[in-house]
Amino acid sequence: MKANSPASLPRLSQDGPSGGTRLARLRVDLSAIQENWRFFKKRAPSAATAAVVKADAYGLGAERVAPALAKAGARVFFTATLNEALAVRQALGEGPQIFVLNGPQSVDAELFAAANITPVLNSMAQIALWNARGPMALHIDTGMNRLGIGPEELAPAAIALKDAGLALVMSHLACGSDISHEMNARQRARFIDAASLFPKAPLSLAATGGALIGGDYHFDLIRPGIGLYGSGGLDGGNPTLAVAATIEAPILQLRDVEAGESFGYGATFTAAKKMRTATVALGYADGYLRSLSGSGYGALSGQKRPILGRVSMDLIIVDVSGCADATPGTMIEFLGADAKLDDIAALAGTAPYEILTTFAGAVHKNGART
Ligand SMILES: *Cc1c(COP(=O)(O)O)cnc(C)c1O
Repeated sequence: MKANSPASLPRLSQDGPSGGTRLARLRVDLSAIQENWRFFKKRAPSAATAAVVKADAYGLGAERVAPALAKAGARVFFTATLNEALAVRQALGEGPQIFVLNGPQSVDAELFAAANITPVLNSMAQIALWNARGPMALHIDTGMNRLGIGPEELAPAAIALKDAGLALVMSHLACGSDISHEMNARQRARFIDAASLFPKAPLSLAATGGALIGGDYHFDLIRPGIGLYGSGGLDGGNPTLAVAATIEAPILQLRDVEAGESFGYGATFTAAKKMRTATVALGYADGYLRSLSGSGYGALSGQKRPILGRVSMDLIIVDVSGCADATPGTMIEFLGADAKLDDIAALAGTAPYEILTTFAGAVHKNGART
């Protein structure tokens, strides 16, 4: 046998129950996600509560998250793209309504109808493309200037659409994360104005932030996303939600380092005193943002353990001085109950959305899952 033929290679080892190729581990708490969905349902008693599961349920795995939400009572789901919707349809079966926020592209309009997926129509071109071939939603732009029918297109859109066929008329708040932002009231007023052209359609304006502003923003359907996954999505004053995602990574090595020694690429951190450090199998290849260099932390036995120096591709160094629990193989938490999503996002200089899609998304794909 040739030495380098595939048959002579050793088998890949499996890291965990659904072992990926990397050592970081994501635990998704489906009951926490259900609890958070119920929190929003209670907040909006006069509206229906949908579930936004775009981007693979914000990185956590739509194939498990969507059925758990359906079990909790969700009947309406939103994805960004058709392919995401098809995966969710496969996970949910027939019954729940699935909206695609980005709407149909020219190539896939037939596929929407075949899989009973409802497009959100965002432009006159999409209205023409869809041609009322089945249920549809209409997105009205009320000031975000991203997607949706603008003010000058409203009248032609109302003529082109059959009001009776509209499953939903929706808009999206630009500043929903800031409850007191004057933009919210302005968008709400524009939404009510525009929606008067579609008197029979159910209305939806609020995502997570909007749902937290209050009943004036709930209309017929709220569309929480980030809130289901554990962050209130507000710039400040977030409600306490259940922790949906926990990410841990194992210690590979421990070192006792003298004062004056420095750590990692660029030698950006120098020990002022003798330290015990752990080298951990986690890096930006796991979606752990490099901007957490020198600012992030892991949690071990409930205690915050600062990251020393730069995050590298597959490794980080953590200060475990005075910690008896640290041994090779010990798992350190980098997202979860002791390393809170909103806190880690703030330290990384980003939003919880990016931490979930980037970090949890990468570990979901490549790490071990429990
Ligand atoms: C992403 C998105 C949502 C959900 O937003 P969250 O802030 O995550 O709750 C709702 N509606 C639209 C149009 C979206 O793009």
